[in-house]
Amino acid sequence: MSENQTPKELLVISGKGGTGKTSLTAAFSILASRGDTKSVLADCDVDAADLHLILSPTINKQEKFLAGHEAVIRPDDCVKCGACYARCRFGAVRKSAGGAGQASFTIDPLACEGCGVCVHACPVGAIDFPVAECGQWFLSSTSAGTMVHARLNAGGENSGKLVSLVRKQAADEAGRSGAAMVIIDGPPGVGCPVIASLGGVSLALVVIEPTVSGAHDMARVLDLAKHFSVPAAVCVNKWDLNSGQTEAIEALAEARGAKLAGRVRYSRGFTEALRAGKAITECAQTDEQKELAAEAEVVWNRVKGFLNE
Ligand code: SF4
Ligand code: SF4
Repeated sequence: MSENQTPKELLVISGKGGTGKTSLTAAFSILASRGDTKSVLADCDVDAADLHLILSPTINKQEKFLAGHEAVIRPDDCVKCGACYARCRFGAVRKSAGGAGQASFTIDPLACEGCGVCVHACPVGAIDFPVAECGQWFLSSTSAGTMVHARLNAGGENSGKLVSLVRKQAADEAGRSGAAMVIIDGPPGVGCPVIASLGGVSLALVVIEPTVSGAHDMARVLDLAKHFSVPAAVCVNKWDLNSGQTEAIEALAEARGAKLAGRVRYSRGFTEALRAGKAITECAQTDEQKELAAEAEVVWNRVKGFLNE
């Protein structure tokens, strides 16, 4: 990549979880690392991150993800008036029996939405309101190159913000290292994290299974991509489980302006590769796995072609 060229962003996405999206992302990243497309990986499926299970990253840098606020009562300053308990609409203030017949009040960090109402309601200023640590993000090395990934704490909010942060860190890393592409494992669905991962990418590859609900999921994701003016392509995974539905999905994809990136068949080879903690393109041992790896490579080459159009 020339020095001032912006890296392309490929987002691999699906209408729901469990379509093989992450397995294909890992397969592409291994192919990219072997070819002429130096890439940085970004796991933006922050609510259920699992790209690390396949690519076994070595963490080189870890940072806190800070977002929003959480209320914390200072017990020594609290005069136990109960105003915070009465005002909190999220039931986050806990009341329990204290000494000398007085109730005591604490705040459940998992239930606190950080609205700040209790902070203003407290007559003696006994509630702190620090920025909340909602998770961590990591910069790691993998067999396929550098990877940016994250972990959201239990009950952590703002996954859309964390997706944006992971994307930005991956883009910065690509710029620093001269990588030509960022390959993003996107979140499932069409909610806030997907919107945060979709805006401005070079291409959204929708991985879908040949079912009626798969067609519906694909249509929703393609509509979202169109809304953000993002070019889209479709890959049908496990296409041979229902060839008629595969054809219907491909026709629907083309009617909605998406390109066809190809098909990958159903095979236990994917599951066996997953169990071994490998991408299909790095552990093609059985004939089944070799065929799968070849199919994934066909899809990858088409996707690269779409990105260069
Ligand atoms: S910040 Fe809002 S949600 Fe949290 S305890 Fe106070 S009132 Fe309840
Ligand atoms: S409003 Fe303030 S003083 Fe009253 S119970 Fe809550 S923390 Fe204590």
